[in-house]
Amino acid sequence: MNSPIPDNCPECECELYPSRHTRPRPVRTAVGQMVLAGGFLLSGGVFLGTIASLVLLLMMPAVVAGLVACVPGLGVGFAGAILSERCGRVLKVSCRKCPWATKLAAGHRAYGARGSDESGEWRQ
Ligand SMILES: [Zn+2]
Repeated sequence: MNSPIPDNCPECECELYPSRHTRPRPVRTAVGQMVLAGGFLLSGGVFLGTIASLVLLLMMPAVVAGLVACVPGLGVGFAGAILSERCGRVLKVSCRKCPWATKLAAGHRAYGARGSDESGEWRQ
């Protein structure tokens, strides 16, 4: 992925991030964080709700109901995570020597791409 981070500060021309490891990582936007939190809450609600209905309506043992409820619970959580990724990420870039700072759109990334990106950086 091409990095949108400029090499030099537009204000004072000093090099922004001489080392790759100090470069800022893309972080979720505020909307993305809310979607993620909502997804987790909903996922927990679906999990507990499924257990309750299986136990109460089908008289299923709680242990079995818990295992079955994992499926829709994880599904909802995963959907929330994917939606959150679609909200995009931003890079918070700032200069060490002057007050210049900006936020850059990091673009939309496929879910799961983050891990491979990071391991790629650590290998260098
Ligand atoms: Zn600067």
